[in-house]
Amino acid sequence: RAKSEGRDTWRFYEETMGLEARSRRLMEHELRHAVARNEFALVYQPQKKLDTGETIGYEALLRWSHPERGNVSPAVFVPIAEESGIIVPIGEWVLRTAAREAAAWDQPLTIAVNVSPVQLHSPNFVQTVHQVLLETGLSPHRLELEITETALVRDMTRALTTLRQLKALGIHIAMDDFGTGYSSLSNLRAFPFDKIKIDGSFIKQVDTNEQAATIVKAVLGIGRGLGLPVLAEGVETSEELKFLAGEFCQIGQGYLLGRPGPIPSINAEDIVEAEVRPLRRTSAA
Ligand code: C2E
Ligand code: MG
Ligand code: MG
Ligand code: MG
Repeated sequence: RAKSEGRDTWRFYEETMGLEARSRRLMEHELRHAVARNEFALVYQPQKKLDTGETIGYEALLRWSHPERGNVSPAVFVPIAEESGIIVPIGEWVLRTAAREAAAWDQPLTIAVNVSPVQLHSPNFVQTVHQVLLETGLSPHRLELEITETALVRDMTRALTTLRQLKALGIHIAMDDFGTGYSSLSNLRAFPFDKIKIDGSFIKQVDTNEQAATIVKAVLGIGRGLGLPVLAEGVETSEELKFLAGEFCQIGQGYLLGRPGPIPSINAEDIVEAEVRPLRRTSAA
């Protein structure tokens, strides 16, 4: 009986594995066509200065609206797209779309784009970024690529060369999800980052949990010491915001400060105001 149970368990295991592999392959196949079928869109989440509340930029976040599955989370499909390499053309679409849309914004704010490790290490990545900048006319200093430390550990030498070439284009590099995964302080010194993004898991309970608070304060200290601005991800409550502002964290992002969505465009009245104001000033002078 134990034997047959074992066999049944094994068969069940085999079947579910088969099912999982099949459903991954199916999703891979669907991802291959998703760009052409126009199923991807970008939403933008504001990044704000914590002292003034001013929006300094937006992070582009990828959304996949599947005809039958509905909205699929990037947490689900990005790993599958990375494993199969499809993240490279998808990432290129994200970069081009974000750059084109940001170039049309009425204010020259920063546009942050997530770059997968697979994409960063793909041949011609730097060339692609360069081409997108030329094509869209986006000023390089407005583009910030968000990279996780996973991208660095794969091949340190190559990652360093690529980041230096990207920096030579005039764009900025942010370290995303700092404090998770392969975090190493030496990465902050060895690679030319322009910003540290503290992962949202540390911001949670920063006002109630002493350990979380200590870690966040330490990262803020490192940022100050290295002259790197620090952005707190996942700011959800006014208590968290108060703590962060009190510790002189410069930038925040999170549901409290603004959810990912379409870019709020200025309304017609604002346009008239903006056009009229300089005229008034001229006539007064
Ligand atoms: P990430 O780059 O760390 O992006 C931040 C994630 O946190 C986003 O989830 C955002 O919606 C979410 N978030 C923002 N504020 C809050 C908050 O206050 N509370 C909580 N609980 N969450 C908040 P999203 O859009 O589901 O993306 C998840 C991850 O998928 C991203 O993490 C990023 O690693 C990846 N991703 C998203 N878009 C792209 C893309 O275009 N390319 C690549 N390669 N990866 C992407
Ligand atoms: Mg990010
Ligand atoms: Mg992040
Ligand atoms: Mg995160």
